Formats: sequence, C-alpha cells, structure tokens
Amino acid sequence: MNNLNCRSCERKFNKSEVNKKATFCHYCFSKARVERIQAEVFLKENFKKKWCADLFKGYVQYLEQLQIGVDTIRKHSSKVLKVLQMDESDVLRPSDITETWVVTALEKLPNSKGVKPSLFRFLVRKGLLNLDQDDGVITGISKQLEQVPKGFKRLLEIYFNERMELRKRQVNFNARNPLSLVTVKTDLDIFIRLVKWFQNNSKHIESWDTVQQEDIHEFLLTLTPKHREIVRKDLLVLFKLANRKRIITHIPILDVKSRELPPTIEPLSFEDQVRVAKTIKHNLYEKPLDSILTSLCFYHGLSSSHIRNIKTVDLNLEQKTIFFSERPTVYLSDDEMIMINEYAKARANIRNVENKSYLILSSSASEVYQDRPINNRFIATKVKELTGFTPKSLRITCFNTIASHFGPQLLVEGFGVSLTQASRYGKLEDYLIDEQIQTQREYVSNYSDG
Ligand SMILES: [Zn+2]
Repeated sequence: MNNLNCRSCERKFNKSEVNKKATFCHYCFSKARVERIQAEVFLKENFKKKWCADLFKGYVQYLEQLQIGVDTIRKHSSKVLKVLQMDESDVLRPSDITETWVVTALEKLPNSKGVKPSLFRFLVRKGLLNLDQDDGVITGISKQLEQVPKGFKRLLEIYFNERMELRKRQVNFNARNPLSLVTVKTDLDIFIRLVKWFQNNSKHIESWDTVQQEDIHEFLLTLTPKHREIVRKDLLVLFKLANRKRIITHIPILDVKSRELPPTIEPLSFEDQVRVAKTIKHNLYEKPLDSILTSLCFYHGLSSSHIRNIKTVDLNLEQKTIFFSERPTVYLSDDEMIMINEYAKARANIRNVENKSYLILSSSASEVYQDRPINNRFIATKVKELTGFTPKSLRITCFNTIASHFGPQLLVEGFGVSLTQASRYGKLEDYLIDEQIQTQREYVSNYSDG
C-alpha cells in the first residue's frame, strides 16, 4: 500500500529508510540478521573449525542474554565474526587465545573499539582468557627495562609497576575496559625510544632531571604529526609521575590543553595550482581584493594573521614591498602591484578610511568607526569564493612547491621557517610551521630578557 511503514512490524520508517525505499525497518532487519548468523547454514559457511563457530554463536547468545539491542548485536557480531575468522588461521586451539592476540586482532578492524569490553568479558567467562596471565608481554617489558641506562631506569620501572597495579585494580573491580597489557607496552616502548634518542642525539642528558623542554620538542618533531600529540600526552603523564616521586623538580613539557589535530592538508595538485594562478591573473581588475588575498597566501605563504595585520605604513609602493616584523619582507610582483592599486581605489571609498591604519578593510557598517584588523573568516571566505580552496591549503601548497623546487633552505631564508623544521618535513604542515616559529620567538625573547 504505502512504503512508510515496515512490512513486518508496521513500525513507521525513519527518514533514511523512506529515502532508501526500505521494505523492512532497521530493527526487523537486524533481528533477522541476528537470527540468521546463529543458524547452522551460516556457521558452516563462515567457519572451518567447529569450536570457532561455537564460540561465535556463544558470543551472540551472550549478548542476547545481556539484553543488548539487536542493532548493537548485529554490529558487534559482524566484527567478532571477522576476529574469529582471523583466529581460525592464526590460532590452532582455543587455549591459544591471548589478550594480546585479541587486542591486535581488534586493532586491525576499523571502529572496533566498542566490541572489546563485551568480547573480553565473554572470553573470560568462557575461561579462554585470563587477564592475569602473562603471555610473554610482561617478561618482554621487563627484559627491555633491563637495558635502560641507570639515570632513566627507575622512573620507567615505577611507571610500569603503577600501571600494572592500576590494571589489577580495574580487573578486580570488573572494570568495563581495563588497561590492556598492549597499551602499557606501547607506552613503555615510546619512553624507551625517547631514552635511546637522548643517547644518540643529546649525550649530555644522562637522567630525567637534566631533560629540558627543547629536548622533548626536538624528539616530538621526529614523530608524525598525529602520533606526536598522543606521545606528548603520554610523556606528560610520565613526567607528572616523576615529579610526584621527586625524581625531577620541574616538568619539561607544557601542560597545555591538548587540542584536536587539524586534519592533514595535502598540497594542491599541479593542475589545481595552474587553475589558481590563472584565476588570480584573470581577476586582477575585476576582483582585486579577492585576488590579492589569494595571491598573498598562494605565492608568499602568508598566514591569515599576517595578512590581516598589514598596515598601510608597512606597504612600500616604490620598493614594491610589504614589511613584517616577524618574518622576512615580501616582494610584490607586477600583477600584485596592479591588484594593490586597484584595491586602493575601492578602499578609498570606504567610509572613515582616513582614520584606518590597516591595509585590508571591511566595508561593513559596524566597522565604520573602528580601526581594527579584519577577521580570518573574511579572508577565508574571499579566497574560497575565488578559488574554491582555503587560505591554509594554498599556504601549504606554496611551502611545499618551494621546498620541492629549491630545497628547504629557501624556506628558512625566504619565509623565516626554522632549519630543523624545513629539513625534516617534506610535507610541511601549516600549524607545525607556526608552532616552530612561535617556539623560536619565545626562545629569542627569553634570551634577550635575560
Ligand atoms: Zn519492522
């Protein structure tokens, strides 16, 4: 009759079900699936070994007993199905199942984190997993710790013992998701890697209390951006512990609120770069403001904050330069001089312009009596409208292209990027550069104060 209700339970469809022209609702769909995966046919099709099939069926029944919703059972069981199928090829007997194995198997599947607690509990209940058992991981960690030099060893041992204590407490209290041995090992691995890095790169550091913030920063820069933030947090935990235990007197890492890492921005393809260059060229006269903003990002790698803070006095029309206090002077091309001149004509018509010091102005009524820089969004909107790309991706493209054509040294001389930064990263990321410049600036100002 109509397709607004489920054919089986007559439940009203939600929007996405209506759009998909569904005949059964998600609930009936999941319910049928959960029934089907327990049937002999399905189990025979999907498992070669009977004990694996039984284990899978047992897991589904375990979830049903816990009165977990069918939608969740469907999602969880599809992941556990894959884990157990991996199991079939890796593991010969049920007794070969270990905590490390399960954690590693789950890590191979996307979005499988939510499955871990129920799967662990199920395996523990079945007597297949013992969270106290040492499947070689603990011995492995102890062996590694043996190798750590004297000045660093004690703290790592304390850390290890504390984590193991925490884990024990969690297991005893039936925590939903106790700390896994693999996590403890991963943390210690990275700490040991740091110690090794000190030995190779900063021989003067012989113990935790001689570590300086710069050393930690140097080390963090050797990691990938995404990994870096995780390691920074782990190190903070370690140093706080050291401080509590009076192994160090100051924490050589800033306790800044950890921020979300911006998604990695890839530089534009060559074709897109050509398109942006052409767009700028075609709009010199028609859209001088949009073009000059784009040009400053794309050809000079200026950040939005650089651009918005340019004052008219920083602009030298005779020498065709823009002066910056924090980075080398920008030399303008002939096209850019055209855009600036065209923009100057429009700018002259903005109300109260004689009392404004910034080069780029908003013509919005609320800004008439203010003398303040435009905001980043102003720039982002214009650049995006003109080119379809964000200022940030244009800026990264600029650095990337220059580094690949002329070598990173030019970034140092021409853009004020630090040498370590420029040489380490073929793929330069905007915020990294800002971070590095900021650090250097603090460093310099600390020096000149003292
Ligand atoms: Zn239904």
